[in-house]
Amino acid sequence: MPRHISSILNIQKGAEKWTVLAQVVHRGHSQLTREVPPRRIMRFLLTDTEGTKVSVVTYEQHIKTFSKFLQPYQRYYVSNAIVVPADPTYRVGTYECSWILNYKTLIENYAEPVPPMLPCIFELTNFSDLHKYADSDNLCNIRGFVIHAFPIKQLDPDSISRDIIIVNEEKKLMLMTLWNEFEHDEGSKIADMISTAPLIIALRVKVTTFNTLSFTTRYSSGILISPPLPDELSLRQWFSLNKEEIRNLLDAKTYNDASYLLPPPNEEDIKAISNFQASFPVQKAAWVQGTVKLAYGFSKYWTTACANCHKIVNADIDWIIHCPSCKQQTEVELRARIPIIITDASSSIHCIISGEDAGKLIEFTPLQLKQAQEDGFQIDTELNDALKKYTVVCFLKSYETPFQGQLQRKNTVIKAYTAAELSDRPLPLELPENTQVFSELGSSSARHAETSSKDQLFTPSTKLVLEEIAGASSYKDSQTSATSGAKRSLEFPEDLPADTDPKQPTKAAEEFAKEPAKSYGPPANIKDSPAKKPKAKED
Ligand SMILES: [Zn+2]
Repeated sequence: MPRHISSILNIQKGAEKWTVLAQVVHRGHSQLTREVPPRRIMRFLLTDTEGTKVSVVTYEQHIKTFSKFLQPYQRYYVSNAIVVPADPTYRVGTYECSWILNYKTLIENYAEPVPPMLPCIFELTNFSDLHKYADSDNLCNIRGFVIHAFPIKQLDPDSISRDIIIVNEEKKLMLMTLWNEFEHDEGSKIADMISTAPLIIALRVKVTTFNTLSFTTRYSSGILISPPLPDELSLRQWFSLNKEEIRNLLDAKTYNDASYLLPPPNEEDIKAISNFQASFPVQKAAWVQGTVKLAYGFSKYWTTACANCHKIVNADIDWIIHCPSCKQQTEVELRARIPIIITDASSSIHCIISGEDAGKLIEFTPLQLKQAQEDGFQIDTELNDALKKYTVVCFLKSYETPFQGQLQRKNTVIKAYTAAELSDRPLPLELPENTQVFSELGSSSARHAETSSKDQLFTPSTKLVLEEIAGASSYKDSQTSATSGAKRSLEFPEDLPADTDPKQPTKAAEEFAKEPAKSYGPPANIKDSPAKKPKAKED
């Protein structure tokens, strides 16, 4: 009597004497489990003609037996595996069991010249929704064409990685880091066939805020290379039609560009700050919105960083370094790094805003910030005055770092938009009561200056020092990229805010004058000082 061929859904716990015609969707690596002591394990994902998926494992000495079979996308008769409840991590779709292959399990080749298209459906995430998964344990499945493979990076003797660039039908380019066995198996294979732009499906990859937003493989991830899909042909056609545009996006490195990776969010994607803080154990990144002010108590508002990946490095700006983070040989750049407090109706949060996003909010270039600090000139008031004008929508990331033996939570702005930048899509502002929001284009007439405070802050000598800083800034102006627009040279409004934080000691000009004179010369001689440079031209 011929054997009855069951479907996966018919195979429930305790089933005996059954056979399923199964197609290999994914074949995992030989890995060690995280048990103590660890066992060697290999995972497979199989499907049947109905498209039901089942997660399958085999252990230790059986790996060798079954890995001869179960090649990607081929079909086999699988009989009498052990049926157990599925591990939630690997559970796929509606089927509630998983199978274990042991020495009694029968696997037979199914003879056919070409296996059929994969009948199963993959629950894929749109790249525009990735921010919802960022820095969380919510892994996602994605699909796209690999259009670039970077060289392997040897991070330490036991760890290698390779970055690849993927584009999907949204024409969004994303970087994915393949670690260790994922580089060894899939990464090298993808790199070998990169000229054909292979289509991949990546299962259970993590979305991180590394490189603004990127994918990284995890222990449980799986990568399908060129899977036979029913819509393969139309996907290929789409790729061919858009090849040139995709090439341009690759050349423009949009996979590195925060404006592309994190465009302004929808209203419903913005979290209350209190919710953002509370969700730290499960998700460490999200969009928030609020008013901005300076977080006082810091004196340094700049940093040196890798010009490629923006990792902070302690190096000089004329150095060429081999970056420990991105492994590139790059220049060192000065970057603004401003501690701010963002406040909405629910809470306030301290965070660091840096680079171009910081530059949008303040009126100093990074070089001016550096020189102001080196010259002991207190600019807190001016910074706060500039920051207070803004309401921002920003993508925040939280992390913990050890400080004096304890973990301290820190927050970083990954991408920020000002209310004015989002003027075409007004956001519901749930801001604290009595908060006055200034658009950067709006008037500052609400502020009334007190002549006395102005005099305290700006003696003639400090004004001259500021002009010196402004003069030196022309160097940076010539280097500033076009993204944030031309930087103004230092201009101080005649109207100064009267609401300077009284708790903050202002290092006023008198104090500055007491310090040993630097290249600017003593205040009394400034008029005649030959060192005085012409004021930077206004642009
Ligand atoms: Zn770098």
